[in-house]
Amino acid sequence: MNAEKVNVLIAGGGVAALEAALALQSFDDDRLDVQLLAPEPRFWYRPAAVAEPFALGRVSSFEISTLAAQAGAISTPGRLVSVDSARRIAYAKPGGAMEYSMLLIACGAVPVQAVNGALTFRGPADTGLIVKLLGEIGDGIVRRIAFVVPFGAAWSLPAYELALMTAGWASDRGMDLDVLLVTPEDEPLQLFGKAASGAARMLLEARGVGVHTGSYAAEARDGELLLVDGAVLAADRVVALPRLQGTRIGGISQTFDGFIPVDSHSRVVGLSDVYAAGDVTSFAVKQGGIAAQQADAAAEAIAAAAGIGVEPRPFRPVLRGVLLTGDGPRYLRGDLAENDERSEVSEEPLWWPPAKIVGRYLAPFLSRLSGAPVETERSPENGLPVDVALDSDSVPERRDRLVRRFLEEGHPEPGTPTVGDVMEREPLLVAPEDTLGEIAERMSELDRGSALVVEFGRLIGILTSRDMLRALAGRVHSSEARARQWMTADPISVNADDTLEAAKVMMAAHRIHHLPVVEDERAVGMVGLRDVVQREFIPMAIGLGL
Ligand SMILES: Cc1cc2nc3c(=O)[nH]c(=O)nc-3n(C[C@H](O)[C@H](O)[C@H](O)COP(=O)(O)OP(=O)(O)OC[C@H]3O[C@@H](n4cnc5c(N)ncnc54)[C@H](O)[C@@H]3O)c2cc1C
Repeated sequence: MNAEKVNVLIAGGGVAALEAALALQSFDDDRLDVQLLAPEPRFWYRPAAVAEPFALGRVSSFEISTLAAQAGAISTPGRLVSVDSARRIAYAKPGGAMEYSMLLIACGAVPVQAVNGALTFRGPADTGLIVKLLGEIGDGIVRRIAFVVPFGAAWSLPAYELALMTAGWASDRGMDLDVLLVTPEDEPLQLFGKAASGAARMLLEARGVGVHTGSYAAEARDGELLLVDGAVLAADRVVALPRLQGTRIGGISQTFDGFIPVDSHSRVVGLSDVYAAGDVTSFAVKQGGIAAQQADAAAEAIAAAAGIGVEPRPFRPVLRGVLLTGDGPRYLRGDLAENDERSEVSEEPLWWPPAKIVGRYLAPFLSRLSGAPVETERSPENGLPVDVALDSDSVPERRDRLVRRFLEEGHPEPGTPTVGDVMEREPLLVAPEDTLGEIAERMSELDRGSALVVEFGRLIGILTSRDMLRALAGRVHSSEARARQWMTADPISVNADDTLEAAKVMMAAHRIHHLPVVEDERAVGMVGLRDVVQREFIPMAIGLGL
């Protein structure tokens, strides 16, 4: 690219968007014009939401236009609704068509209720729920309370913090309160590794919090919390974290739950000049520090593509967290590698500045704005090297491993009907570059409700009639729109020897009607809801978030 202006459009006004704007500003290059497109006028610093009800912290918020200006960007109100990547046009509401040279999608995730009948704690908007709950505990109406990390929740720390702080709050007042923590994790704070898990267990024990690991909450009702395995826990109130979903954006291939697959430089897979960072990506850990690290990788890749002399570094996730206990914070650090033995826990900061959301540019930027002391260097005596090469490949698997483990544990019986017994053995296969018009014709000819998108024999996506409808609603031209832009990427799949019941539960849990059947990543069949509905439906999937 030459010395022309490069118009970088960032969709979002949260952690990843601001970190990317600040990282781009750090290149100090006049060629970059950065614009933030965000629907809400304010940036909320969410971590303090758990502390606010206990008067141990306050949620602060900042005008996005002010933050953007200080980060060298302009801000425009609006919501990204679709992208025509071939023409480099983003469509926003309001705002209409917006041309860009490079687009960074940093729209975050949408929290949805995960456990029926429970109070859902999404963050700053729900601090009132906790205040009310504390009042009920004070009045003696609530004596048993359960905090739930639901299946699929990607950031479990707030549930631990709420449990610890509630238990501490009640004990300080001499109140009799049973506090439970229910989580599908094998160990408390499993993602942070063994040291953090051990420390969390000790903290929970010291506060008298009962811990149920490996437990899937199904529903809260009548003073009870029902678990998927049939167990029942007594709880007058249940507070659950939400399940996260990605925001649907036309013209961008997303996973079944709305997340965008990206490569290690935050480039959206299959598209040119489109990047994504933060909770909206399909990376399994939804955390501010991780969002910021992805944003830094995106900013470097964008700068390099713009011709600025930068060697873009790939995203290498390091998880850092501050656990608010109500009795001094605990700093946690873990490498997101499988079988991780290296993790740290400390009462002293392990990084600097010791923010809850650790962003290379954002943390010092926000601490300067909020008047907190700013350090540009890590605290030398407590600092730890943080740029550790990591194996992140295993992380996105976590969620499905949980489903699989649940299915296997719940239904280990051999000899039950399998997917192979009922699957369509000649699924409709299409290429990522095929147009929607061509695919619609073939689907109609063969009377199929879906097509599998394969590249070099490997399954990369699924295109259903619902995806086709979305494309039509986006007014795309059927002879121009391609499968790779509108398909559901990285589809949930089953093997031919999985039980039919497993396939049914997967469909119900993920609210999908078609499951590709794979063998060594190759599509060998398709099983649809129609193929399995004759059999008895197992309603246990409510425990997986229905
Ligand atoms: C209670 C709570 C406590 C947490 N504690 C921590 C913590 O201690 N440490 C930590 O690292 N993380 C923490 N997190 C997680 C952290 O807040 C998120 O992971 C992080 O904010 C993700 O950054 P993001 O930029 O991807 O999304 P967000 O920060 O959510 O920003 C998304 C932005 O996109 C905008 N947007 C939405 N749709 C569109 C659209 N269509 N077009 C344009 N813009 C759009 C939104 O308005 C928003 O401005 C916590 C979260 C919660 C809820």
